[in-house]
Amino acid sequence: MLSQLALSIKESPTLRLNETAALLRDKGEPVIHLRGGEPKSRTPIDAIISCTSLLNSGEVRYTPADGIPALKKAIVRYTEEHYERAVKPENIIVSSGAKQTIMVALHSILEPKDEVIFPVPYWVSYPEMVKLAGGLPIPVEASDGTFCPSFEDLTAAVGAYTKAIIINSPNNPSGVMYPNELIARLVEFCERKDIWLLMDDTYNRLVFDGRTPTNCYAFTKEDVERSKLLVVNCVSKMYAMTGFRIGWGVGNRELIRAMANIQSQQTSGPSAPSQWAAVGALNGVQNSIEALRATLENNRNVLVARLQAIPGVKVTKPHGTFYTFPDFSALNPSSQKLADYLLETVRVVVVPGKEFGMEGRLRISFCGAQKDIREGLERIQWALDPNAPNEIYLGSRKLVRDAV
Ligand code: PMP
Repeated sequence: MLSQLALSIKESPTLRLNETAALLRDKGEPVIHLRGGEPKSRTPIDAIISCTSLLNSGEVRYTPADGIPALKKAIVRYTEEHYERAVKPENIIVSSGAKQTIMVALHSILEPKDEVIFPVPYWVSYPEMVKLAGGLPIPVEASDGTFCPSFEDLTAAVGAYTKAIIINSPNNPSGVMYPNELIARLVEFCERKDIWLLMDDTYNRLVFDGRTPTNCYAFTKEDVERSKLLVVNCVSKMYAMTGFRIGWGVGNRELIRAMANIQSQQTSGPSAPSQWAAVGALNGVQNSIEALRATLENNRNVLVARLQAIPGVKVTKPHGTFYTFPDFSALNPSSQKLADYLLETVRVVVVPGKEFGMEGRLRISFCGAQKDIREGLERIQWALDPNAPNEIYLGSRKLVRDAV
């Protein structure tokens, strides 16, 4: 018999979709993925050099539970450069991906049934991670129907059991960047009320139209030791290094020590080759991030223009990340049915909005090849817009809409 906890945790919906799509692809079907959560660019060369020099030494050992000194040093510099904050190695924990940083943070701060607030739409993993740590997820919708709950919306959900608020900006899945004014008020509020503010900055520098990445530390006068901020970053998205599994958190030493103790019993220190790869990425030439950011901005423009051309679809232009979260409710109120329909009829994989807490929407990624974005959207339009050209080719197979 499995535990109640195990039974309450959902399978990652994106992984499940992958399996269905992989089965179709194995059968030779021309599947297009617009569901991806990782950039297609290559690992930065400095990361590869740094990683292979460790491998060439043949000395690949355990690492300290909270990360190797060389990576902590690189993160101190990164924090100075991008957050204008001087922190010490004791303020830093390196984990196996941002996901583990968030998980050990939740384990460090939650008592059973403590509450964690986050805006809707949210990254699919937040509710399940909070539950895994014994807490209660409290998703908060914007009262004006947008992607951005106001300060009042968020703080109205705060009660005696609130332990933390998680903010992910720019946001997966909506691409929205929360206004600086909201972040400033939340930082002040959380410090006054003794509530943790977990800033998930996974996509921090992937922002468009000349926007400046959010720096939450700009809004606190508190020393890092007295601040309630825990800032989470990773090399996964910005450096296109998802497979290396390296993320980190910056916070006060008491919290970081607790997180390191938990991590030391959970997985021990993150993989040594991956940490050295991250050292190379953070200390090396930085132009890959700007190249990726510019490619994504271009992809976003193509995708948004195509979506706007489909009657009934409402799209909000993403400020950052590589996701859009358009509203298809006028065409089909069930995001699951719509996603299944698109996979069945035109072999395009997208993620149903309900997984992110909003029905009637689909998450469509633009981190793939521009050719796939154009072709994928052409197929979606064919499937949903009666005025689109009647015929379409999926690979060598011709589909005729009136004949379907
Ligand atoms: N936070 C958000 C908002 C994400 O989208 C992701 C990855 N999809 C993560 C954290 C996890 O990042 P990592 O792969 O470094 O664990």
